Amino acid sequence: MQIHPPDRAAHVTPWPPPDLEQLGDEIAELSAHLEAATAKLLQLIREFDARKGWATGYHSCAHWLSHKVGLDPGAAREKVRVARALGELPLIAAALGRGELSYAKVRGLTRIATPENEAQLLALAQTGTASQLERIVQGWRRVSQQAEAEEAARRHRSRSLTVYHDDDGMVVIRGRLEPEAGAVLLRALEAAREAAYQRAKEPAAAPAAEPTSVTPTPAGPTLADPAGDGPTPAQRQADALVLLAEAALRHELDPGPPGDRYQVVVHVDAPVLADPEAPGQSVLDDGVHVPAGTSQRLACDASRVVMRHDADGHALDVGRRTRTISPALRRALLHRDRSCRFPGCGRRFVQGHHLRHWAHGGPTTLGNLALLCRSHHRAVHEEGFQVERAPDGALQFRRPDGRLIPEVPPPVPVPTDPIETLRAWHRTQGLTLDSRSLTRSWSGEPLDLGWAISVLHPLANPVAPSRRMTAL
Ligand SMILES: [Zn+2]
Ligand SMILES: [Zn+2]
Repeated sequence: MQIHPPDRAAHVTPWPPPDLEQLGDEIAELSAHLEAATAKLLQLIREFDARKGWATGYHSCAHWLSHKVGLDPGAAREKVRVARALGELPLIAAALGRGELSYAKVRGLTRIATPENEAQLLALAQTGTASQLERIVQGWRRVSQQAEAEEAARRHRSRSLTVYHDDDGMVVIRGRLEPEAGAVLLRALEAAREAAYQRAKEPAAAPAAEPTSVTPTPAGPTLADPAGDGPTPAQRQADALVLLAEAALRHELDPGPPGDRYQVVVHVDAPVLADPEAPGQSVLDDGVHVPAGTSQRLACDASRVVMRHDADGHALDVGRRTRTISPALRRALLHRDRSCRFPGCGRRFVQGHHLRHWAHGGPTTLGNLALLCRSHHRAVHEEGFQVERAPDGALQFRRPDGRLIPEVPPPVPVPTDPIETLRAWHRTQGLTLDSRSLTRSWSGEPLDLGWAISVLHPLANPVAPSRRMTAL
């Protein structure tokens, strides 16, 4: 973007402005300029997003925006959503670009507008207030079967379960399930609560029974605690979930010994094991060849067994299984780093990364470890990103080309007089804005929401006059 120096002589505003009306006009005019500039901003974001300019270590365009510009993550996601939507809605994009429509209205419009209804909705938006438009958008979504289907798809996409360690080592679980999946979970929890309750009752009902006849579970000590008043409903729920997990693991999901689930077996040529820098192959247990970077990432934070093979592929010896990072060290690491340390990431589901890999002689100590999320762990092992600890203890991340990734992006220089700069820039675009640009002709009658939806929405049934909702 080329921003030309403003023609100061013609447009210098005395400060403070002599009267309130002029002050109000200044506000309205600057707002129109900002909306027009926002249109340009969204256009740039759309282009940047489409060309994946953010794929330089960020998960998404929104993550990049959040880190680079300092938007909160929700606002950043919304900007990207609106920017993408405007690609299909040229009339609305143009109205924003002319400073005739506020970003607030555009956000609402882009939730329901299609190329087919864009013109009608734009006319409505230009004559109504932002809150009236919001009511129409909400009403529209209620009657729109298509929106409902999209909502179901969105719900499906938004299903999630996140599990992370809190500062005190507790495992924190947070998730969203679709209603039917949630019902299954609730039924299972209910059954597990009853089973856990029965287990807790049994020793009390039959005190002479052998204690070993009761299978000890993590739920046991809480339920059997004689000092307390018994577990709260929330505690019972937590015990039930642990029982579910145990039952699932023992009977359905994994027939093998529990410790082996997370074992990573990497077969490497003997010379490579002797000299980690030497070229050689690395193969996972199922025979899949993987780059050395991948096997090192997998081995970075895992249980491991090192086997040595001779040239004919015969095993020379099999080492004992060890945890790369001990539980105690992991707690300390989680307490210190809390989340992924990659600049701007902050994800809480993390893996321990050896700054100097143990296969290269790096020690498994706090000083040589850092938490990274899965994708940033991949970035440093397999995508050429680098991370090292500076002498002052701070982590330094670099792009594959060696450029430093700052923890906080440096501030962008801004013109000393933003309104003059915008005015001058918009003048070069042939755009003249004033205090009336954003204000359109709403004559002030109450908004007849039911009527508006019934006239505009292709799927809405005409609303009977007696049922019309009149609201402002
Ligand atoms: Zn690693
Ligand atoms: Zn990360």
